[in-house]
Amino acid sequence: MKIECKFGIGDKVYLIARLSKSEIMPCTFCDGTRSLTGKDKTKCKCPVCEGTGELTKYSDLEYSVLDSVTISYITLRVGARGQDEVYLMEEGEICRKHSFGPAELFATKEEAQAQCDRWNGKKI
Ligand SMILES: [Zn+2]
Repeated sequence: MKIECKFGIGDKVYLIARLSKSEIMPCTFCDGTRSLTGKDKTKCKCPVCEGTGELTKYSDLEYSVLDSVTISYITLRVGARGQDEVYLMEEGEICRKHSFGPAELFATKEEAQAQCDRWNGKKI
């Protein structure tokens, strides 16, 4: 019996996760200067950024490509209705979950990115 799997042990594959990206940008209220000058010329700490000069902007949840992981184990169940492949990664790589079906893994970053774009509803 010959069994073919989508991926092999040692293959590098890419995962997709739904993440909220945070971006640090200069405070728009004080223009990144950390303080404001009153009409009497005294300065006070910017109340918006609390004197840090920066604001963190969170974007909506979006599908993003994670770094590549290496397949360490494959469990395979073959039955009359086909085969069931489960790929496992070493613990500690990127995310807590460490078993994935073939549809959750991508051979190239480009493939994974194309899937993210489809799920994020962008036109390619
Ligand atoms: Zn500020």
